[in-house]
Amino acid sequence: MDISETSLKLARPHRKAVLVSLLWLTAIAGIIFGIGNIFRGNIMLSVAELCMAAYSIFLMIAGRNTKNLQRWIFCYTIPFFCVMMFAMTTPRATLSVFGWVLLIPLLSHLLHGRKTGLVMSITFTLIAGIIFVMKYHDSAELMQPMPLMNIAILSICIVTFSHVYEVSRERTELSLLQMARTDFLTALPNRAMFREVFEQQKAQATRNARPLTLFVIDLDYFKEVNDQYGHDVGDQALIHVARLLEKNLRAGDLACRLGGEEFGVLLPGTNSLQARTVCEHLRDTLANTPLTFEDKTISLTMSVGIAEIGADGNSLRSLLTRADHRLYTAKAEGRNRVVGPEVDGHMPVPETTTSQTA
Ligand code: GH3
Ligand code: MG
Ligand code: MG
Repeated sequence: MDISETSLKLARPHRKAVLVSLLWLTAIAGIIFGIGNIFRGNIMLSVAELCMAAYSIFLMIAGRNTKNLQRWIFCYTIPFFCVMMFAMTTPRATLSVFGWVLLIPLLSHLLHGRKTGLVMSITFTLIAGIIFVMKYHDSAELMQPMPLMNIAILSICIVTFSHVYEVSRERTELSLLQMARTDFLTALPNRAMFREVFEQQKAQATRNARPLTLFVIDLDYFKEVNDQYGHDVGDQALIHVARLLEKNLRAGDLACRLGGEEFGVLLPGTNSLQARTVCEHLRDTLANTPLTFEDKTISLTMSVGIAEIGADGNSLRSLLTRADHRLYTAKAEGRNRVVGPEVDGHMPVPETTTSQTA
């Protein structure tokens, strides 16, 4: 999955929570300040604040079940920041209104992420700075180097900290996600990622009327490897198979560790007949590439079951069940072989190596 897409998907619950709490705050604050400004005679600002409150309530109701959260966030932040800028320009607004500007970098990053967040922070903070200078250019007290520098440094600090925090938050989130989708031992994708990629590839295959095939690999007599050489060597053997899969598959294919000594491979744009050629090549390569460990040579073989989307089902579960079924046939027929959908008349491959040699 595309990284920016993933990051957006991950950020969605946080952003929604921030947006909802902001809409509540804006609605309540808009009503309180709007009424207060009527009494102060600042009718223009009062109307803007009451409109913002009404608009927040509208967004809260209309955007409740939205699929396009980012669009609704823009619908909130742009008018909200514009009302803030407008509030600052009104002659009766107090100096304290400028304090609200400090919220802009924080909200922009929380709601829009690091890139758009940074652009919005800088744009609106600069506009606020220009309004401030235009409004108070004749104030001898404020137009001194020290107060101006204080305001500028404070603004830069808030933009920088918000940005740095968001960048590091996104990185941490993505690395946690990566860990959750990766098999710790072999560094191949795990079953969770396999499922995710399968759903994407299935959608593409359906859209473009292209084939999609998967196959399940189970190492033969793997328990013997552990029993004979120890668990650590067994682990090395699993890593050896993982590297071999990576090396011998196309860039668009996906190999994962389904668990234990079982691997799953997804072949987009490939039918079961073409998949058989791929499987035979892998089977043959593994049989002829033993693991060398210290002074030992450990032969490994695999049995494979293939299933193709459409003929063998459309869900991952049904395809894995079919592939597993064929895998058991391969085991029953002597191991070190590939069984595909042509199971009724499949051509077993002569067994070459089935046990480990030291
Ligand atoms: P078959 O040919 O029928 O598949 O025989 P097998 O011995 O491979 O099958 P079995 O299911 O009996 O054994 C699988 C073994 O895989 C048992 C288990 O200890 C080992 N195994 C599973 N996960 C790991 C792992 O992470 N590391 C190591 N070293 N061994 C593992
Ligand atoms: Mg097994
Ligand atoms: Mg096995």
